[in-house]
Amino acid sequence: MGNFREKLARFMYGRYGADQLYYCLLILNFVLMLINSFLRLAILDITVWAILILMIYRTFSRNIYKRQLENQKFLKVWYPIKSKFSLFFVRVKEIRTNRYRRCTHCKSMLRLPRRTGKHAVTCPRCHKDFDVRVLL
Ligand SMILES: [Zn+2]
Repeated sequence: MGNFREKLARFMYGRYGADQLYYCLLILNFVLMLINSFLRLAILDITVWAILILMIYRTFSRNIYKRQLENQKFLKVWYPIKSKFSLFFVRVKEIRTNRYRRCTHCKSMLRLPRRTGKHAVTCPRCHKDFDVRVLL
């Protein structure tokens, strides 16, 4: 067993391995396979295989610089989506205690205590006042 691990480590030496794009493709492939287990479309089958081949190719690739560039491009798209989703979950989690509103002047997101009605808020970032209406 130790011999196998050594061989694997030697084989993977100088190869790219897994990154965020790899895990995203993994999840995407899993979802597509799940969907395709109901739909059974040939085009989805081909897509799943294409993604799988791409994942294997990227993992064993020796062109590390190029793979890193691909991953950076992916992260540039992924991080804004991820932050939007995480803000959404935070808003749901804190729905009893806080409200989130965007400052009308500098557009930064403010976390306000939940107080129903209309009241003035001073933005801590740009120090300007604006009105906030909290219905519930
Ligand atoms: Zn502001």
